[in-house]
Amino acid sequence: MKFKELGLSEDLLEAVTDAGYEEATPIQAETIPMVLAGQDVIGQAQTGTGKTAAFALPILEKIDKSNPNVQALVVSPTRELAIQTQEEIYKLGRHERANVQVVYGGADIRRQIKSLKNHPQVVVGTPGRLLDHIRRHTLKLDHVQMLVLDEADEMLNMGFLDDIEDIIKQLPEERQTMLFSATMPPEIKRVGVQFMQDPKHVKIKAKELTTDLIDQFYVRSRDFEKFDVMTRFFDVQDPDLTIVFTRTKRRVDEISNGLQARGYNAAGIHGDLTQKRRTQIMNEFRHGKLDILVATDVAARGIDINDVTHVYNYDIPQDPDSYVHRVGRTGRAGKHGVSMTFVTPNEMGYLREIEKLTKVRMLPLKPPSAEEAFVGQLGVAKEAVADLINKTDTEKYADAAKSLLDEYDAEDLAAALLNAVTKDDNSQVPVKITPERPLPKRGGKRHGGGGYHHGGGNNRRGGGYHRSDRGGDRRGGDRRDNRGHGSRNHEGGNRSHRSNNGGRRSEGGSKRGFTIRKKD
Ligand code: ADP
Ligand code: MG
Repeated sequence: MKFKELGLSEDLLEAVTDAGYEEATPIQAETIPMVLAGQDVIGQAQTGTGKTAAFALPILEKIDKSNPNVQALVVSPTRELAIQTQEEIYKLGRHERANVQVVYGGADIRRQIKSLKNHPQVVVGTPGRLLDHIRRHTLKLDHVQMLVLDEADEMLNMGFLDDIEDIIKQLPEERQTMLFSATMPPEIKRVGVQFMQDPKHVKIKAKELTTDLIDQFYVRSRDFEKFDVMTRFFDVQDPDLTIVFTRTKRRVDEISNGLQARGYNAAGIHGDLTQKRRTQIMNEFRHGKLDILVATDVAARGIDINDVTHVYNYDIPQDPDSYVHRVGRTGRAGKHGVSMTFVTPNEMGYLREIEKLTKVRMLPLKPPSAEEAFVGQLGVAKEAVADLINKTDTEKYADAAKSLLDEYDAEDLAAALLNAVTKDDNSQVPVKITPERPLPKRGGKRHGGGGYHHGGGNNRRGGGYHRSDRGGDRRGGDRRDNRGHGSRNHEGGNRSHRSNNGGRRSEGGSKRGFTIRKKD
């Protein structure tokens, strides 16, 4: 659906074009008209589908720029999200000169007080810091007409709920309330609707997965190891048409450049590329001129290609629906597919969430050793040699060949040929991928059931894990504002429940000869 059809002003349409958005995403197409019409809305769609603009655009449309009061409040669970959201709203409201400010814990409050004095029409903030400003009377919310709880499933969960209630007490009863989230469990929805009036629940369904055609593996790997491990898998698995999904645009660039440096036929797409360039890359991929496509979730939207053999989740997606969406790119039209998901030790909870949704256990794979990767490359090289022999007019080279055989050992000649057609040398090219903020630890309360335990001793590291970051200390700052940083401990060992859904898959996934570590 075109943004033009949604009833937005010229200023906003221009900003949308500037942002490079061609078409409204489904959640945007459905919720923008509702929000414009004053409806309370629960907007549910998987991560990366543009929920921010889904509320930002109608909010920007509705605020009165000549009114100096705060008219819209967006509450975010983390400071990173708050900043990102403020940036997006600011960007979209640039042409209409909307004043959008952000407040979050762990930053100089005086600066924020100053920026709040500038009469923002829209304020984005984390709960703790918002309350801080409310108590200091540096933020007045009595003219707020629109409230958004972003990542609403988090915001309405136990750890935040008291804060949210305290904030809502400051708002006029007569207001529009919106919840946006990737997931909306019924018990959370029940809490949410108490703050709403006759809400409409818009739920964009993620695509279903035909799981029996897809072999789903996971690889435990630290973030900094992923790139080397992935290229080894490429060498061992020799995938034909591959999509690598990653979380950020920067990673798309770094990974696609790194792959090219190591001799792979790869390119990346993300929202910052021109539409022309994106189309060009997609066409190359579609016609097999490109082996590996590196993409963000959003950029890969609309990718509709039937012959994708492998999907690599370089970064595990934050919500299970995105996983289904990504992996659904392979195993299509009756063809067999393989998915590989890299999981850092602290992200195991996300893996279990995915398995719950797909009802299939992913099989753990051990990263191939350099030797195994080399063996894989040799296999490919041998095929290449067979091809070459087929293509070669032997007669033409007969004399030269004979004289070479006089001069050199046949084995040496063959080895040199193999060396020439393998890209082994490139595996030494160092590639550095900039670390990204890891996903917050996941697990605990929201999934019901008492606690998370391993099903017996295996070789995983890590101590017990409780989601104590949600409760406890209520003084000062936002408890979760730091979660992106606080959870940087990769060795944290996320104890997750080994549920027994899906049963154990056969160990037969190794037809291509890579190592499968047995589940214990
Ligand atoms: P969500 O909140 O659903 O996880 P975001 O709002 O963070 O998703 O959007 C993800 C990315 O998609 C952002 O980089 C955003 O700029 C981009 N985006 C949003 N709407 C569109 C659109 N209509 N077309 C292309 N990209 C979009
Ligand atoms: Mg969002």
